[in-house]
Amino acid sequence: MIVSTDDFNDKDWLNFKKKLKKDIGDTAYKNWLKQLEFLSFESETLSLSVPTKFLRDWIVNHYSDKIKIHSQKFNKNIKILKIVVKPVGGRILHGTARTVKPDQNKFNQTYDIRNNQYVNSSEEFGAPLDPRFDFENFVVGKPNELAFAAAQRVAEADKVSFNPLFLYGGVGLGKTHLMHAIGWKIKNKSPDRKVVYLSAEKFMYQFVRALRYKDTSAFKEQFRSIDVLMIDDVQFISGKDNTQEEFFHTFNALVEQNRQIVISADQSPSDLDGVQERLKSRLGCGLVADIHPTTYELRLGILMEKAKKRGVEIPPKVLEFLSHRIISNVREMEGALNRLVAHATLVGTTITVETAQEVLQDLIRTNNKRITIEEIQKKVAEHYNIRLTDMHSSRRSRSVARPRQVAMYLAKSITSRSLPEIGRKFGGRDHTTVMHAVKKIEELKVQDPNFHEDIELLKRLIDC
Ligand code: ADP
Ligand code: MG
Repeated sequence: MIVSTDDFNDKDWLNFKKKLKKDIGDTAYKNWLKQLEFLSFESETLSLSVPTKFLRDWIVNHYSDKIKIHSQKFNKNIKILKIVVKPVGGRILHGTARTVKPDQNKFNQTYDIRNNQYVNSSEEFGAPLDPRFDFENFVVGKPNELAFAAAQRVAEADKVSFNPLFLYGGVGLGKTHLMHAIGWKIKNKSPDRKVVYLSAEKFMYQFVRALRYKDTSAFKEQFRSIDVLMIDDVQFISGKDNTQEEFFHTFNALVEQNRQIVISADQSPSDLDGVQERLKSRLGCGLVADIHPTTYELRLGILMEKAKKRGVEIPPKVLEFLSHRIISNVREMEGALNRLVAHATLVGTTITVETAQEVLQDLIRTNNKRITIEEIQKKVAEHYNIRLTDMHSSRRSRSVARPRQVAMYLAKSITSRSLPEIGRKFGGRDHTTVMHAVKKIEELKVQDPNFHEDIELLKRLIDC
């Protein structure tokens, strides 16, 4: 029977299901297709529903061809198959679906038979990869070189070399970035390999949902058909026994099939509290790579890279200042950079150490500790690369005398010491010498903007 109208009625539906059942066999039918329900047929689109997202994905992946062939026997105008998730007792009711716009249900997903692909796959069970996170824009330094090398190895290797790769480190140190980078690299190299990235939280959420809809077999199948599984922030499952159980089994099944697993956490496997011992030991049996807190050099490198990406000119002194003063994590540093750029664009000012100090006041902890003249001398000597003893010596060459004057000036403006007190700390100099130094530096600041910046930078480095 071939009809060419927009007709596909309940009787067609029953016959269609019978044909499907005959084709795929009783067991598979019972497991996968029995719960399919007919919703509507309109403008070349046959809409069906299932109670869960897992079932929907499974059917789309495994049975869309068969559904296509059989449904077209009833109506050759069927071009698009849409499978809507309709939870049991949920909003979309049989017979009223014609009035429900597809977009109203976020679980809707359309499989276009003509192109053999999802039309909208944003609700896939993994999470999308962030295009900003690739290996090229990951800055490597001592603290992250092992993690970086291991991630690259996993992404480039054709065979599984260590399983799992376990990356751990504090917040904002690049774990997620590296995982996405692995994902991109593998996708580019071997588009056929199924790479799934998701947070441990999402893993748990999906598992709980599957339990609720008694659909755990489809849940399991989905994970087990993956080539590379990456689970981020696995510390989330601590104390959640059912999820750990399921995770453990999924993990084992994948390892047995020689599929690559990448895990991240904020602790090493053995330090994960609230995680079952057997899972801990499983997690630690591949390569465990830690990412250490950033160093000044790495922070500076990252900031330079981020500023370059953004295409904004930021004076090196400002970048140095940020790398010195924002040490907690890279995410915060990036946030600071964004704020600075936004401020400069909005207000139309150039970015200087001073504006940075102003705009980022809350990020840069002001420390009330009393600063000593000795500390100032030390910082200034380091900055100008002279010996500390030259702060007290009687040498008069410009290369030494100028830094000494700078230190005197800073001692005057940062501390509450009197001129004679300052003089004494500089090899017993007279208070007029200090006064002269302060005046000289103030003049130079006015004459030379670079010098001005330099002094401001020093001031802020000391004043922390
Ligand atoms: P984590 O997952 O460890 O908390 P993320 O990977 O989310 O940290 O990193 C936080 C931000 O810092 C991201 O924007 C990331 O691009 C950036 N970042 C961290 N480390 C680096 C690095 N070495 N090079 C470039 N960007 C980095
Ligand atoms: Mg992360």
